[in-house]
Amino acid sequence: MTITVIVMTTSASVPTGPEGAIRTGGAGEDGTVTDRLVKANARYAADFTDPGMDARPVLRVAVVACMDARLDLHAALGLELGDCHTIRNAGGVVTDDVLRSLTISQRALGTRSVALIHHTGCGLESLTEEFRHDLEMEVGQRPAWAVESFRDVDQDVRQSMQRVRTSPFLLHTDDVRGFVFDVKTGLLREIDPA
Ligand SMILES: [Zn+2]
Repeated sequence: MTITVIVMTTSASVPTGPEGAIRTGGAGEDGTVTDRLVKANARYAADFTDPGMDARPVLRVAVVACMDARLDLHAALGLELGDCHTIRNAGGVVTDDVLRSLTISQRALGTRSVALIHHTGCGLESLTEEFRHDLEMEVGQRPAWAVESFRDVDQDVRQSMQRVRTSPFLLHTDDVRGFVFDVKTGLLREIDPA
């Protein structure tokens, strides 16, 4: 597995192609990465058959996880199409918007369990709330959101569990469990909520 070290910056100086999209650069691949995704979708759709499912997750579980590219949730958790809701953001942080999604997941679509998954080597560990300050200095506007950076991943999982368990909007808060996924071994480590 190739692990790319990402240097985070508040500047918009991400290298891009002439059209502003990052080039794939792979042999035989032409166009932007999104062009590549669209081509892949055409192949996917060619073999796709309507699974005939409704929108309610079969396993009645919502998984909240970091957006990290090394975390393949379905493969890592043995999940199949239709099994679960996946709610992802930077850090797998339980923000107001995650609570919005969980509330809809439980109240409109019947899920009952919540699994929270952070991981080793998360980009949020190398950021601080200074990121927000630097951003304000750069663009002249303070973001409304918190960066939600953290130093201790276990503690952040505990806080996330607490935010879910204490949400007044959720119907089911008895089965809320939190984990750290090890990006080097693929193993989950459960975090004691205490
Ligand atoms: Zn992460």
